[in-house]
Formats: sequence, structure tokens, C-alpha cells
Amino acid sequence: MSLKEYKKKRKFSKTPEPKGKVKKSKKPIFVVQKHDASHLHYDFRLEISGVLKSWAVPKGPSMNPKDKRLAIETEDHPIDYANFEGIIPEGHYGAGTVMVWDKGTYENTTEKDDKKISAKKGYSYGHISFDLKGKKLKGGFSMNRFRENKWLLIKKDDKYADKRSNILNKKKSAKSGKTLKQIEKKGK
Ligand code: MN
Repeated sequence: MSLKEYKKKRKFSKTPEPKGKVKKSKKPIFVVQKHDASHLHYDFRLEISGVLKSWAVPKGPSMNPKDKRLAIETEDHPIDYANFEGIIPEGHYGAGTVMVWDKGTYENTTEKDDKKISAKKGYSYGHISFDLKGKKLKGGFSMNRFRENKWLLIKKDDKYADKRSNILNKKKSAKSGKTLKQIEKKGK
């Protein structure tokens, strides 16, 4: 796990994103950032081995177990990135507005051959299961790799599953309570 690629892609004198370092939280965290870049998408990040493993989820997470959400793996991000909300300036990597859409801790529930294994091992096998304790996302989810950097993010059918309403209709930041537009305005 390394932040080499993360740092290579950014000029920290030009972007407000944190430089960060590899470190562990007391309890492993997750964050979902709504990112209004060239295409609006959601970035799902899960703490594994001192970094945030990261996936761009074009359609965003769903609480409906029938939805299989494509998640494209991107470079590892520093743990401090979970608090980043703001504007990446034009002409720079990921240019656009970033909102902390949801944030919390998670419990690893990954198993292989009926045995509990670490999220790190699960990641290497291409299968991770976890319980999210966020403000919006709650309960069991799984991620399965099906091709190189492509994974599927799927809600488990538990008491938090919701087949009726769209969780993405909750549009305010879990950090500041602001909408994307309000974050955008503040930056100007
Ligand atoms: Mn992004």
C-alpha cells in the first residue's frame, strides 16, 4: 500500500487536497465523496492497511441488493482525504467540486472458505465484505472484482436494505450539511 501514485498525480502547491501519509485509524473508516468532475460520480474509499483503497462509482452506491454498481479502482488515497471537501482547481487532476457525501467506520466481515480473513487479504483475492456505519450507508455490503480494476459494489439483503427509495436523493454533505452548489459557491 503506497501513496506514490496519489502524490505523483497532484501538485500540492496548487490543489487543496491533503498530502497525507500512510497511517491507521483506531477503527477502520470509509468515506463516499460526491465528485462533480468532468462526469459527476461518487468515490467510494475503504481504509485498508493505512490507506484509503479507492473506487470511482459512476452511478453511486445503492441500498437495493438487486443493484450491482460498477466500481472502478483508482489510486490509493491518504486517510486524511476522508475529510476533504472543496474544489480541485481547473486544469488539475480531478478538477471539480468534492463533497463528503457519507463517512463513518466499518467492520470487516470478509470470509474465505468459511473462515474470517482480513480486508487486506480479501482485497488481494478480489472479494471484500463489510458492515458500514455511516450517516447514510448502513449495514452489509460486498465488493467483488470481476476484471482487473473493475469491481461490483452490492448491498447485502439485511434490515438496512431498501428497495424503494434512492439513497442518492440525500444530497447534503455528511461533513458540512452543504449541497454541492453551496460548496462550489464558498470556493469562489
Ligand atoms: Mn473522483
